[in-house]
Amino acid sequence: MLSSEQQALLRLEIFADLEALIDSRGGFASRDELTSFVMKNGLRMPLIDTGRGIRNPQEFDATLAIVSASDGGRNNPYDDAIDRETGLLRYSWAKGPLDAGDNRKLLAALQTGTPIILFEKPLPNLYVPVLPVYVIDVDIERRHFIIDLDDSRLRTGREVPLDKSYVARVVKQRVHQPMFRARVLNAYNKRCAVCTLRYPELLDAAHIISDNDERGLPIVTNGMAMCKIHHAAYDQDFLGVSPDYIVYINERLLADRDGPMLQFGLQAMNGKSLELPSRRDDRPDRDYLAERFARFAS
Ligand SMILES: [Zn+2]
Repeated sequence: MLSSEQQALLRLEIFADLEALIDSRGGFASRDELTSFVMKNGLRMPLIDTGRGIRNPQEFDATLAIVSASDGGRNNPYDDAIDRETGLLRYSWAKGPLDAGDNRKLLAALQTGTPIILFEKPLPNLYVPVLPVYVIDVDIERRHFIIDLDDSRLRTGREVPLDKSYVARVVKQRVHQPMFRARVLNAYNKRCAVCTLRYPELLDAAHIISDNDERGLPIVTNGMAMCKIHHAAYDQDFLGVSPDYIVYINERLLADRDGPMLQFGLQAMNGKSLELPSRRDDRPDRDYLAERFARFAS
C-alpha cells in the first residue's frame, strides 16, 4: 500500500496528466480515452469504471473520481444534480451501508479532505472533468454525498451558506462554461467555424448572445466554435456573422494594410460561408445571429 504522501503525489500527477489530455482534446474526453488512460510515467490508471459512477483504484484509500448521474441531454445545458443556489452536487450512495463497498472510499475522501475529480457528461460519451472538487458532507436521510464544486474550501458543510452571486460565478466558471465549450467543439467537429483551424488547444466556444445577458444560454445554438483570433475578432465586432451564415469583416479592417494575419487571417474571410455543424439542430439560431449582427453592422 502506498503511504499517504505517495497517494497524494500520485493523485496530483493524475490531475495534471488528465488536464493535459483534456486540453489537447478540446475540453472533453471519450469513455475509451478515460478507461484506457495511461499516465506520463507509464502507469495505467483508468479514470472511470465502466458500469459504475465511481472510480476507486486499489492504490488509493479515497475515491479518485465520480461521474455525475445527470445526463442533461441536448436541450438541457445544466446538471440537475447541482443545486444552483448552493453550488452543491448531490451524489447518491451506492447500495448498502455507508461504510462498505464503493461508499467507504468516498466517505474516506470526506474524512480526509481529499480532492477528487467530478466528470460531467453533457452528452453520452462526452466527459468533462471538474477538478478538484471536495466531498464536504453526507445527507444520511436522503442517502447522498454532498460535493462542493467550489475548490476554495470556504465551507465545511452543506449548512454553511455562501453568497449567492459568488456561488453562481463558481458554478458558471467551473461547470457550465466547460460543458458549453465541450458541446460546441463537439458539434463543430473541433474546427473553427470561420477558418476551419483544427487545433483544439486554439479553439473556443464563442457566445452569440453574451452569457452576461440572461438570454445568453450555454446551449449549442447560442454558440460557434472559433479559433482564438476569430473569437476575439467576433467579440470586438471586427468580424460579424449574418443570419444566413456569411462571415463579414469590418470596413476599417478591410481598408487597412498590414502583415499576413490581417490579410489571410481576417480580410480573406470576408464573404466566406460559415462551416456549420453537420447536425441541423446544432446550427446557430438565426434570431440570435440577427440580433448580434445588427450590432456589428451598426
Ligand atoms: Zn478561425
